[in-house]
Amino acid sequence: MSKLLEMLKGLGEQLHLKPQHSFTGGVHPQELKKTAGLPSMTCPLPKQIILPMKQHIGDACEPLVKVGDHVLRGQQIAKSQGYLSVPVHASTSGTVTKIEDHVIAHPSGLGLPCIFIEPDGKDEVDESLYPLPNYRSADPIELRERIRSAGLAGLGGAAFPTFIKLVLDQQNKIETVVLNGIECEPWLTNDHQLMLEKAHEIVTGMDILMHMVGSQQGIIAIEDNKMDTVEVMQKTLVDMGLDASVRIEVLPTKYPQGGEKQLIQVLTGKEVPAGRLPIQVGVLSQNVGTSKAIYDAVCLGEALTERMMTVSGDALPNPTNMRVRLGTPVAWLLEQCGLDDTDGIKVIHGGPMMGDILTDMRIPVVKASNGILAMRISTLMQAHHQEDPCIRCGDCGDVCPAGLMPNLLAVHCKEEQFERAEDYNLFDCIECGACSYVCPSHIPLVHYFRFGKGKVAQIRREKAFAEESRKRSETRDARIAQELAEKEEKRRIAKEKKEARAKALAEKQAQEAAEGETKKPEAES
Ligand code: SF4
Ligand code: SF4
Repeated sequence: MSKLLEMLKGLGEQLHLKPQHSFTGGVHPQELKKTAGLPSMTCPLPKQIILPMKQHIGDACEPLVKVGDHVLRGQQIAKSQGYLSVPVHASTSGTVTKIEDHVIAHPSGLGLPCIFIEPDGKDEVDESLYPLPNYRSADPIELRERIRSAGLAGLGGAAFPTFIKLVLDQQNKIETVVLNGIECEPWLTNDHQLMLEKAHEIVTGMDILMHMVGSQQGIIAIEDNKMDTVEVMQKTLVDMGLDASVRIEVLPTKYPQGGEKQLIQVLTGKEVPAGRLPIQVGVLSQNVGTSKAIYDAVCLGEALTERMMTVSGDALPNPTNMRVRLGTPVAWLLEQCGLDDTDGIKVIHGGPMMGDILTDMRIPVVKASNGILAMRISTLMQAHHQEDPCIRCGDCGDVCPAGLMPNLLAVHCKEEQFERAEDYNLFDCIECGACSYVCPSHIPLVHYFRFGKGKVAQIRREKAFAEESRKRSETRDARIAQELAEKEEKRRIAKEKKEARAKALAEKQAQEAAEGETKKPEAES
């Protein structure tokens, strides 16, 4: 145990050093956190901002602006569509120059509609969201709507719309609010630095959350490789008078402890069942960056237009943590850090365990972008090994935090036996990469799981589309049949009327003829 950790033990009962619970599996990759402790910088505005219409888990947004419009920083430029969605805001002032498909950070490499803004350099702010500093007297529903309309999505990398976690009902009472300051991916230090620089804002965000859900207990979870943040956060809790209700849990460093379900299990001993949300076990968890964004949205009236991110990797002479405007192209970030790509590079979006290799440096930063790593190809080649056959050692199952059998799952995904893969709980996989990390045969297991999940999602989409088409076709057939039946009925009624008229006419003529016959003899006589 470090000297600092020993010293911090003296901070009192609020600091818990020995967790009672743990999660199964996990690994200890090399940390390589080269940017730890370096003061953050503000990334200069790029020449062009590219804002994708989908930066969160859920439905894409619909543009509210057109080419030529002038927009302000924080102005809503795309509205959410569907329940699982949050709006998109301009991240600086300028002119909308294009609205068209553009490549984004996604393993498929496919494009998505984006709004392009040419900054005017003035960075003028839209002030339609007014500050609510007195949040403890505000209605939780009003605060939730504020969080939704400010475009907040989880900044830990998952980008789950934040307001959804705050929709409570009678069955779901939150006992504990957890702030996730774990940041267990190698290289990444953006949450670490944010805790050092914005502790007051982060803790205030947590207080807002506790007020909203009516919770009396909060836990801030930090791994023991970030003890400087423990000191700062504990002092902030004391200064704000929150040290009685919020405690810090210092956890032994282990990957993937930052996974939401794993962290809740370590802190509370509760397991979040497959397919359920943490609120269903009485816990609300948010990343520390999201908590700071909640403070900005509520106390300052600011929409989500920038985020802290780590820009690092062995191809960058000046790695750093940066406050970056959403929509900034990755190439611009790398340029700020003095990229040396003479020997060829690969760029990773996110951390090395869970991130994706980028195909295009014009890809913009989005709400989920916690890091960009520029790695020399020569370094990656040293680490690259040919995939060998599985030797059934079982190491992948031993480290899996979700209790899966990765080797069997991979076989089913590879052989496109997707129903079998689902039987083996493919969708419980959190894609942490721990199994790939330990596999002695260098099998890229996570790639197979992503392929399998993507295919299953595609099959479900196609099925849903076919079902929708079938319903539409049935509805159309029913409508045509109804119209035909109505026409037939009208024809029948018209025919009956015509026949009735003809009959009446014939009867009238017959009657007139009969009357004519009776009058004739009189005339003749
Ligand atoms: S770790 Fe690799 S070699 Fe071992 S069982 Fe899993 S997939 Fe097979
Ligand atoms: S199967 Fe999924 S959850 Fe389990 S170790 Fe591999 S990537 Fe992680």
